Amino acid sequence: MRSPIATRAKSQRAERAIAAMSRSVGAKALPSVSQIARKKRDPFRVLVSTVISLRTKDEVTMEASRRLFAVAATPAKLGALGVRTIEKAIYPAGFYKTKARALKQIARRIESEYGGVVPDTIDELLSFKGVGRKTATLVVSLGYGKDAICVDTHVHRVSNRMGLVKTSTPTETEFALMKVLPRKRWIGYNELLVSFGQHICTPISPRCTACEARRLCDRIGVIKHR
Ligand code: SF4
Repeated sequence: MRSPIATRAKSQRAERAIAAMSRSVGAKALPSVSQIARKKRDPFRVLVSTVISLRTKDEVTMEASRRLFAVAATPAKLGALGVRTIEKAIYPAGFYKTKARALKQIARRIESEYGGVVPDTIDELLSFKGVGRKTATLVVSLGYGKDAICVDTHVHRVSNRMGLVKTSTPTETEFALMKVLPRKRWIGYNELLVSFGQHICTPISPRCTACEARRLCDRIGVIKHR
């Protein structure tokens, strides 16, 4: 078991890394779901736009969400739409046909079982078909403002490269980060690392020379960099 001193040192290093990554990211655009959540903190919008965002570019997610919310801004309205109408609204999001079916079912269940209010716990959200851990943690954190760490591919890759955690799966990363990150950093960690992972610590050949966090990074598994 890690000693309290080692844990404190890791947390302090994580704080410094977060500050350095923020400097690197600067004023770059936030991920689409964060932008939607900031415009209107509505768990329903966070849930729907996150489902749309899976395997879909940010620009496409923004536009598809905007079109869908223009015709269905509540679970009742979305549940009443035909699958074909939802498909048309969210096209060309990846797997738009599967997502359209899932979104309709999710909306109907929220309406029938939860009185139209999106549940606010990860476990309840995970019981919906089409809702995975990434979506559930984003709804809880960005939609409800509750402390949770959303781990997507960028968060998993960057946290491991830097040496903040040593894990094999996103779920392991989520629980390891809970021990390392100060609680006040949990909600914002995802949007910071998504921007940082898209622009600086890219999957192939990260831009280490432009990275403010390079002195804090172990560069684990990095073979080629710029
Ligand atoms: S791998 Fe390079 S770009 Fe990524 S965090 Fe480390 S130093 Fe920065």
